[in-house]
Amino acid sequence: MTVSSLKQRSRAVVIGSGLGGLAVALRLQGQGYDVTVLEQQPAPGGRAARLRSDGFTWDSGPSLITMPWVLEEAFAAGGLDLHSEVTLRRLDPLYRLRWAGEERALDFFSDADALRSEIARFDERDARALDGFLAALKPIYEEGLLAAGQRAFPSARSFAGLVPSMVRLRAVMPLHAFVSRHFRHPRVREAFSFHSLFIGGDPYRVPAIYGALVYLQLLDGGWYADGGVYSLVEAMARPLDVRCDSRVETIETGSGRVRGVWLEGGERITADVVVSNADVLRTHELLGRRAPRRRLRPTMSAFLLYLGCDQRFDELLHHTLLVGRGYRDFIRDVTRGRGLPSTFSTYVHAPARTETAMATDGGDSLAVLMPVPNLRADVDWPRVADGLRNALVNDMETTFGLSGLDASVRVEHRMTPPDFASRFGAVDGNAFAVEPTLHQSAYFRAPNRVPGVRGLFHVGGGTHPGAGIPGVLMGAGVTAGLIAEDAEVRV
Ligand SMILES: Cc1cc2nc3c(=O)[nH]c(=O)nc-3n(C[C@H](O)[C@H](O)[C@H](O)COP(=O)(O)OP(=O)(O)OC[C@H]3O[C@@H](n4cnc5c(N)ncnc54)[C@H](O)[C@@H]3O)c2cc1C
Repeated sequence: MTVSSLKQRSRAVVIGSGLGGLAVALRLQGQGYDVTVLEQQPAPGGRAARLRSDGFTWDSGPSLITMPWVLEEAFAAGGLDLHSEVTLRRLDPLYRLRWAGEERALDFFSDADALRSEIARFDERDARALDGFLAALKPIYEEGLLAAGQRAFPSARSFAGLVPSMVRLRAVMPLHAFVSRHFRHPRVREAFSFHSLFIGGDPYRVPAIYGALVYLQLLDGGWYADGGVYSLVEAMARPLDVRCDSRVETIETGSGRVRGVWLEGGERITADVVVSNADVLRTHELLGRRAPRRRLRPTMSAFLLYLGCDQRFDELLHHTLLVGRGYRDFIRDVTRGRGLPSTFSTYVHAPARTETAMATDGGDSLAVLMPVPNLRADVDWPRVADGLRNALVNDMETTFGLSGLDASVRVEHRMTPPDFASRFGAVDGNAFAVEPTLHQSAYFRAPNRVPGVRGLFHVGGGTHPGAGIPGVLMGAGVTAGLIAEDAEVRV
């Protein structure tokens, strides 16, 4: 029997239609599998959802696109041409960082000379250190993020091979400490280390391998997709059989291999391969097993406001970070679940200055993301959410000069940690899956191939290499590669 004839008869089920789920489905369809994607929500996309009301459009989850070639590859693997499907625009500067009570801002340009000039306004010596910093990140990006992010780590031995080079490159030391070896100004240190927050990692604790996130922004730029990130979801879902409002309750196994899934309502779908894009911390529940002894820790959560405003705020770029006082304590409070922070640091997405159709009548459609502790912290969200919203909007007005913000709001939505739990089944309402620490990365993360159940795999933010749009798309490549490997062995 040939591999292709075997694959044509093989059926794959993907549980969940997040970007990782859609990407693995495209790859498996491209490999000849008959693929069904089962999504519990009424629409595909998972965290990459779209909100629309009263003429305003918001990406409710991810908004900043990096590593566009990873998207190109993911699309091509499913027979799609990214650039025929979606219009991508490069943003330069990619974002602005502003600090509470300070006039100086830092615009992150992708041109090294322009970026150096930005740094020089804080510290001349730090500006001269930029080249050395980027030279230190280059091998971390190439050997760490890029090479390691595109292969599986099925054994401790496979991981051990990576350790010596990462130690030599200082990629295992905490990111902020790594950055501080190159830059001395506190603001410059913050500006070049905050990126791990985008995938739920504390810059003071994640390994410096995540410093590669800065490097790749300079290398490949940062991008916007017309219509928002949801345009990617729509394009990926179009050629697939995605069944929404279909919650998988159980993964059926027998004789050591996967047999299919059972849906809420009692329908059974048989499959040779099942890929779970659901929260990896729930895989044991779907299998009807006890929780594993080693529990991975989920990330912090997020409090999100989606504001449709009747005026545009010129203080904001397309992407702006508003860094509050006591930034380090803020990060500690939210990542270690110590309760609600007393100061606010936020990320604001304001796409209408790139694509006017995202807001109505010259207004702004702002998505304001504040990291907050996950549900392990003792916070009564229904009780505190209104007060937090008012304090946050007030802080944006008074501390960051967005005067008139509250009065300009015509329509508003929000998302809180309990929403992450109820909509996506996110354990403890995590926003970014499993925390990216050294002890929860690569071999120590939930494996792409689930051990002990042949034909069962993971994809998405909780498995290797991790969260973020490029992370889950690269992970889909790793998972699809393992599935292809197993099919070859079976023939
Ligand atoms: C607010 C926010 C902002 C972000 N910003 C960025 C950014 O700017 N850039 C970036 O690169 N990344 C960003 N990220 C990270 C990125 O969005 C995620 O890592 C990525 O989208 C997660 O994809 P995933 O494949 O893990 O699937 P998820 O989005 O987690 O989707 C999983 C899907 O599985 C479904 N599901 C779960 N259980 C079941 C079940 N039993 N049956 C059926 N379906 C089920 C869920 O409903 C969900 O649709 C952001 C994340 C958040 C939350």
